[in-house]
Amino acid sequence: MKIAFFDTKPYDKPSFDAYAQEQNLTIKYFEAKLNEDTVGLCRGYDVVCVFVNDTVNAAVIDRLCELGVHVVALRCAGFNNVDMKYAYGKIHVLRVPAYSPYAVAEHTMALLLTSIRRIHKAYIRTRDFNFSLNGMTGFDLHGKTVGVVGTGKIGRVFIDICRGFGMKVLAYDKYPVKELENDKLRYVTLDELFQNSDIISLHCPLTEETYHVIDERSLSLCKKGVVILNTSRGALVDAEALLAGIKSRKVGAACLDVYEEEAEFFFEDFSGHILEDDTLARLISMPNVIVTSHQAFLTEDALSNIAETTVDNIVTFFAKGECPNEVCFRGGVAEDCKSGKCFS
Ligand code: NAD
Repeated sequence: MKIAFFDTKPYDKPSFDAYAQEQNLTIKYFEAKLNEDTVGLCRGYDVVCVFVNDTVNAAVIDRLCELGVHVVALRCAGFNNVDMKYAYGKIHVLRVPAYSPYAVAEHTMALLLTSIRRIHKAYIRTRDFNFSLNGMTGFDLHGKTVGVVGTGKIGRVFIDICRGFGMKVLAYDKYPVKELENDKLRYVTLDELFQNSDIISLHCPLTEETYHVIDERSLSLCKKGVVILNTSRGALVDAEALLAGIKSRKVGAACLDVYEEEAEFFFEDFSGHILEDDTLARLISMPNVIVTSHQAFLTEDALSNIAETTVDNIVTFFAKGECPNEVCFRGGVAEDCKSGKCFS
């Protein structure tokens, strides 16, 4: 079986090579992202393997079908970069629903601590033998309230970590898990979460409902000095509104592992270039904003799990004609296949 692998980075190859070899799969690694210009490279392959910033829109899906490629293996959990409605009945979309919620949740806490204890500033200062503490005052997490939007796999691990710090937790989920509620965790409405949280962390998928869940209106409800954490998907946050909130001092700090327009920049080296995106450049210039480049998943453990599950999804699908990690789109809802054949 031949796999066309897009948006390849050096850290992808060791784990994929190891699992593919075990299963006799041949992988051709392309550095290019999959999009309308590069889809022609898929000629002669059985499967296309893509990541978060590859584009699987209607035009790409049509061309894949013309080329006889009917399986897209996402090596990530989110599938907002796939036009699922259009894909239904044309191509099979497999994904890795979970590879390490710990990687993402731990990175979220790393960003939060770095930001509020000014570690990013201290690192630069002490390297220059500047041992002054002026401007370095932070605040305790203990006793503060964190609002978690999305109490799935990553949200729950993040909640556990926050509890370890002695924080109170308010949660919002479209599908609340009542068993999670206790004296330290309460489900509330989104507006109540905005109004009462010192820190807000986003762990829900990007959908039409969650698009710009952090915007001018929601920020207006927030406490002054609120810290916004987004390690989920960029378009959950209206970046312009966030920037305005930072300038007006309403937002105390923001930690972003994802950015709405990240596909153009993230994962690439722009250090010798003029950054064209003024909003991103302005955000990065702020002393109270930390941006990492969609890095939260990047641990050895996660990479190994991603490769193992992706290879297993492909092998299972071609052996059985179905795979539990196929994303099924029926009745306007995309979810993992619960009933076997997704096109039936
Ligand atoms: P999950 O499916 O386990 O949990 C998502 C939760 O969001 C579920 O509980 C679901 O009910 C809830 N939800 C759905 N619609 C909602 C809505 N409208 N409002 C509020 N909550 C809603 O997913 P997960 O594994 O915890 O991942 C969460 C997100 O993290 C993914 O969607 C993905 O975008 C992101 N992610 C980022 C990275 C990274 O490297 N930065 C890595 C993996 C995942």
